[in-house]
Amino acid sequence: MNNDSRSDSPILLTPGPLTTRPEIRRTMLRDWGSRDKAFIALTAEMRQRLLAVAQGEDSHAAVPLQGSGTFIVEATIGTLIGPTDKLLVLINGAYGERMLTIAQRLKRCVTLLRWPEDQAIDPARVDHALADDPAITHVAVVHCETTTGLLNPLEALAAVTTHRKRALLVDAMSSFGALPINLRQTAIAAVMASSNKCLEGVPGLGFALIEKKALEAARGNNASLSLDLHEQCRGFEANGQWRFTPPVQVVAALVEALRTLENEGGPSARLRRYQDNFDTLAAGMAAMGFRLYLSPAVQAPIIATFWQPDAAWFDFASFYDMLATRGFLIYPGKLSHANTFRIGCIGALDRNDYQRLLVTIGDIKRELETTPVRPRV
Ligand SMILES: *Cc1c(COP(=O)(O)O)cnc(C)c1O
Repeated sequence: MNNDSRSDSPILLTPGPLTTRPEIRRTMLRDWGSRDKAFIALTAEMRQRLLAVAQGEDSHAAVPLQGSGTFIVEATIGTLIGPTDKLLVLINGAYGERMLTIAQRLKRCVTLLRWPEDQAIDPARVDHALADDPAITHVAVVHCETTTGLLNPLEALAAVTTHRKRALLVDAMSSFGALPINLRQTAIAAVMASSNKCLEGVPGLGFALIEKKALEAARGNNASLSLDLHEQCRGFEANGQWRFTPPVQVVAALVEALRTLENEGGPSARLRRYQDNFDTLAAGMAAMGFRLYLSPAVQAPIIATFWQPDAAWFDFASFYDMLATRGFLIYPGKLSHANTFRIGCIGALDRNDYQRLLVTIGDIKRELETTPVRPRV
């Protein structure tokens, strides 16, 4: 893919920031006045396009916020969960744990359900929890748990929360723009994501698509000035401007990235490319003896978690360094009890990039097998 793999930029096989196209980075080579007409138009196009990705134009408002993905998760929980509300967090990985931490730090009333990191969230158990505790007003879930690459059953969960009349908050950070999310068909109060994952923009901005009614009702909930999404949205509605200094180049890059997504054929076409990346990677790695951590039934084609081979040649630090020297950055595992590493399948990459990666991994494996490695501990 035209990701200038021969330039200084490494290929990022991480869960973000990701490899971006040169055309997207080029849009950042100019300045914008944040209160000028041209930038106001850019912001409006960005907000409109973000809603269009999930068919939320009629029901939701797009509220962008400066910062990384965690900032928008904290802002959304702080804005939508009021002092008399109670949040149920569904956890099967590090990003679910993070939402719990955020709710606790904000001193919101919060409860949780946990599953092992290799198992999807079970909607029936959520249904029972909601039936048992009428005080719960909101449920938060991670769509694709980037910790492992596990896909949680969003539609089935939304059916449960809709039936039980509770609001659903979805951390769709690593799925938005590729895996299907349809706000016309699926009742979701808020979807949170960021500029630098499946949308293939540069890092620096998060956003939430929030049901207009819910956002309207959230006035005064958030004690934070800068993270109050009700106020942030009112700012855009008043004059089209950001309340505080926007990351102008990040916005410009995201608008270009959203136009690119449309030209590629939208999220379904992007998902097909990522699936092809994943399939190419998984088949090539299996041929070299690497095993996937997740079962295929719960695996999303976003990031692949592999067991570290239990073989004398394998040492993660050497493996990582040798790949990095050859221009590929992979990611350590993030699991509580399994020795793994991860290779991302998202970003401006296609099967040719993965074929080059597989050849390189084959070379490194041969080299490590024939040279004495440092003693394993
Ligand atoms: C990347 C990611 C986040 C946000 O991480 P930041 O480092 O703050 O950008 C949150 N949730 C999920 C599921 C993610 O993949």
